[in-house]
Order: sequence, then C-alpha cells, then structure tokens
Amino acid sequence: MNSLDQDRAAVPTSETRDGGASQDGERPARFLLDGEARRWSRLIDQAESYEVLQRTLEAKSGPHTVIEGREFVVISAYDYLGLIGHPLIDAAAARAIEEFGTGTGGVRLLTGTNSLHTELERDLAAFKGTEAAMTFSSGFLANIAVITTLMGPRDRVILDECCHRSIRDACRMADASVVRFLHNDVADLEKKLRQPARGRTLIVIEGIYSMDGDICPLPEIVEMKERFGAFLMVDEAHAIGVLGPTGRGTQDHFGMPSVGVDIWMGSLSKAIPASGGFLAGDAALIRFLRYVASPYVFSAALTPASTAAARAALEVMLNEHDRHRRLADNAEFLRGSLNRMGFDTGTSTTPVIPVLLRNEEHTLRAARTLFEAGILATPVCFPAVPRGAARLRLCASAAHDRDTLDVVLRAFAALTPA
Ligand code: PMP
Repeated sequence: MNSLDQDRAAVPTSETRDGGASQDGERPARFLLDGEARRWSRLIDQAESYEVLQRTLEAKSGPHTVIEGREFVVISAYDYLGLIGHPLIDAAAARAIEEFGTGTGGVRLLTGTNSLHTELERDLAAFKGTEAAMTFSSGFLANIAVITTLMGPRDRVILDECCHRSIRDACRMADASVVRFLHNDVADLEKKLRQPARGRTLIVIEGIYSMDGDICPLPEIVEMKERFGAFLMVDEAHAIGVLGPTGRGTQDHFGMPSVGVDIWMGSLSKAIPASGGFLAGDAALIRFLRYVASPYVFSAALTPASTAAARAALEVMLNEHDRHRRLADNAEFLRGSLNRMGFDTGTSTTPVIPVLLRNEEHTLRAARTLFEAGILATPVCFPAVPRGAARLRLCASAAHDRDTLDVVLRAFAALTPA
C-alpha cells in the first residue's frame, strides 16, 4: 500500500468524522455503521484485545511507572533526557502555579500573554539561534498554524513521505498541492523540485523521524532549497534535547547555522517534559503569525505550569551535559544488543529505535508478551505506518540504567524476530 492509500484509510469519512462515541458504550452508535467505520471497529477490536494501548499509568512516566499497582519498565516514552520529575523543573512549575494560577484566562492575542510566555519565547529563540519564537498549546497545532497560514491553493508543499500526521493534516487544511519525496532521498527531492509550480514551494522535513529514528540530510536539503528558491521547514519534535552536543537540535548536529532553515518547529512534550509546541524563525515571520495564525489567535495560551516547566527544562538541558552522553550511550547499547539478537532496527541511528516485526498480529502479540514481563513497549501498526511495516517503537532515555535495559533485553529474548 502506498502512502496515499494509507492517508485515505486513516481519514474518517464525513459520516464518521462528526459521529462521536456510542452513548451506551457497548453497541456502536448508529452513525458509525458505514463500511469504513466497521473496518475501523475491527482494527480497534483487534488492538484492544491485546490490552497494550491506552493503559492507565498510576504514577509519573519515565523509566519506571505503575500500572494496576504493579511496577513497569517504560521503554517507549518520549522522556529522552529523563527530565520527567526533575526537581528544578517541578519546582518551576509549582512556583508558576502559585504566582499565575492554573489557567491564563484567554488567548495570547487578547489577555492570555504573561511574562512566563515572553521569557520562554525569548529563550526558545536563543536556543534555536533564531530572531524570535512563539508557543502553542501543542506541537500538532504549531504545524497546523504555520502551514495553513503561509500556504494556500496556489502553493506547493514537498514533504518527506515519512512526515508526521500533523504536517499532512495541515497541508490538507491549507488546500495546498502536496508532493511527497522518498524518505531522506535528496535525488528524489530534486526531481520533485524540478517539476514546475505556480506559487511558492515549501519543503517540510523532520530532524529525527518519529517512527524510524533516522536523521534528515539537512546540509544537502538546505543546498537544494537555495538552488531552487524554495522555503524550508524542519519539525524538531524528536530532535530537541537529542541532537547536538547540548540538545539544540539538527543544526548543531551538522554544525550548521540556524538561518538556512526558514521555519523551525518543536514540541514541548518530549525531551522537554511539559506540553505545548513552538515555532522559531525570523522576527517578521513570527510577528505575522502572532496576528494571523488561527491556532494562536483562537486557542488558549500555554498554561503557566507548562510554560515555566519548559523554560526550566531548557536551562537544565544546557547545564546537565552528562544526560546527552548517557542518552547516546543507552541508545547505542540498546540498538546494538537488539541487532545482535537478530532484531531489525531499520535505519535508526538515534534514541528512537523501531524493532521491525512487520506483521501486525505478531507485533501486538509481542507487545503483550513484553507487557506480561512488566515492560511497556508501544506497538505501532497501520495506519501510523504502512501495512506490513508494524513495529515496536522503543525510545531510549538517559534515565534508563543498565540493569533496566538488561531486563528489557531479557524479555526481548522471548520474542521471535521478523
Ligand atoms: N511532529 C512530530 C514529528 C511528532 O512526532 C509529534 C508528536 N508525536 C508532533 C509533531 C506533535 O507534537 P505534540 O505532541 O506536541 O502535539
């Protein structure tokens, strides 16, 4: 199945989109009875039967958690630097609640902006090496905001075929024409750029790809965008805190200046243990977006606790260098050990480590086996990845110690590689 089919299957029809859940919680609601909804229901039934998704955590996430009163190792959380529960970050969030309360009472454009937002945005701009930055209540919304505001029906977005769903949804909402290039294939990107376009062209890539854990070839893509007069946006959701000696992201990984990229996007919910998203770029662009981007203008500001936590996390990241080294070591150890056991980790070179089992049933069963051994590992199946590319998606963390990783590896020994 190609990625276009994958998209179609992943998008609810107009009948199902506005449906909502069944009221009695047992029988499917009447408006969910069309063919596509039935197909979805079968997939959901199958996934639910393994009881590995949407499990309720009874303690904070991190290297360990508690589910149904039992201790679990978490090997799929985005807590790359192990900052969930960091005392300085928790204290900053608690202070913010004391000073500013739990809500902002408004959108940023009207009464929702407070000094925590201004300080965080100044620090984010410095962190990414740009003139300005702005925040949103999620990374998903940051992607929707920038693409729907800047691109329209005359324009073309050329995106890597593995780009995140928020980017693909944003293109659809912008009504821009969408062209995909083969994953990390600069020659294919060039071929697509050579095709004539009416309006502007925006290339969208990710620093680290969220399902495969490989890194974009940024230097070649910057060269390409300059040669063809296109714009470039990089989603750094998984690269922040992970790439570069102090976690500043993909530009530092390659030792490049930030200015080669027109728009940087990031999440505040992965290595940064809060929630929210941001855009960083030149001052004129950010000023324009602050007045025109709907998810900024019409949706509530980031909460005081999240804002202060994100700012404190940036400081911790820049000061506690050892975390980056431990993260890289753990990722290397986990991936290398899995490979030696015969597991295929695809093109991963980062802490995002897919264990490709390919068959969906096999992947769900494997997640269940690990769960019974006290390990929470995320199965990723269609439609998040194409059919036949199912995987367990592991995330190494600086907070995993070797004993914990050994427990994980011992549990993997009970699984059959694809
Ligand atoms: N981009 C990528 C590549 C992601 O993986 C995600 C979240 N998984 C997002 C954007 C959305 O970020 P958030 O969770 O902050 O909404």
